[in-house]
Amino acid sequence: MGRLDDKVALITGGARGQGAAEAELFVADGATVVIADVLDDEGRATADRIGDACRYEHLDVTDEAGWGALVADIVEAHGRLDVLVNNAGIFRVQPLGETSLDDWNRMLAINQTGVFLGMRAVAPPMTAARSGSIINISSVAGLNGVGMAFTYSATKWAVRGMTKSAAQDLSRSGVRVNSVHPGYIDTDMLRELDPDRGNLERGVPLGRLATAAEVGEVVLFLASDESGYCTGHEFVVDGGLTA
Ligand code: NAD
Repeated sequence: MGRLDDKVALITGGARGQGAAEAELFVADGATVVIADVLDDEGRATADRIGDACRYEHLDVTDEAGWGALVADIVEAHGRLDVLVNNAGIFRVQPLGETSLDDWNRMLAINQTGVFLGMRAVAPPMTAARSGSIINISSVAGLNGVGMAFTYSATKWAVRGMTKSAAQDLSRSGVRVNSVHPGYIDTDMLRELDPDRGNLERGVPLGRLATAAEVGEVVLFLASDESGYCTGHEFVVDGGLTA
């Protein structure tokens, strides 16, 4: 028996990195998974690699109408939508003084508004089913200040706050909402921060970066009924970085 048997999940930013690792773990534990992204070729290749229980759909998470159409399509095709992982995100090294209003608005649109639109889109079917799990991917940058990535940190704190408010709002409907806070995870995103990874590794108490799958295991737990009494909280996967 898989921990996600019969569950249907939507994972944004699933073409690569952590989202792709989560999709693979979810399918291995019995779920049907839709991965959504703007990287269409990579997304299709990832879904093909994972197998029949995974399919790719184009979704820019800033597109309100796109969210409505995709959620309606999944519910029509599968009769349910049990799990949303709001994982899509962008990162830039950019301190406060170097941040233009356009830079700020662009990152908020993806990292923050995208999470709002996603939660709002899945709430009706989950509320109707009186069951669901929403997992919002924040960061250790949503637990601490990050001087060299001002806007990124602002969006990840926002995700943490939105998670708690949505959890309170939706708890009586049986829908759980939690945030996950990765530290340094070995994906494409990290290359901008430290191309050779060495400096980052030295700063981590466990002495290494995490694999995407190590975050995925925590996300899987939150998606499963094993976490049925967890809502509104932060789950930190950072090798001790913020301990
Ligand atoms: P990644 O860059 O490999 O993956 C991010 C994915 O999001 C990409 O596939 C990208 O195409 C997609 N995406 C970007 N903009 C999008 C949009 N508008 N609509 C749909 N998809 C879009 O990086 P990752 O490490 O897998 O990041 C996953 C999440 O984890 C992000 O939210 C990131 O902020 C967070 N995170 C990453 C780290 C890390 O060290 N890598 C640490 C903390 C938090």
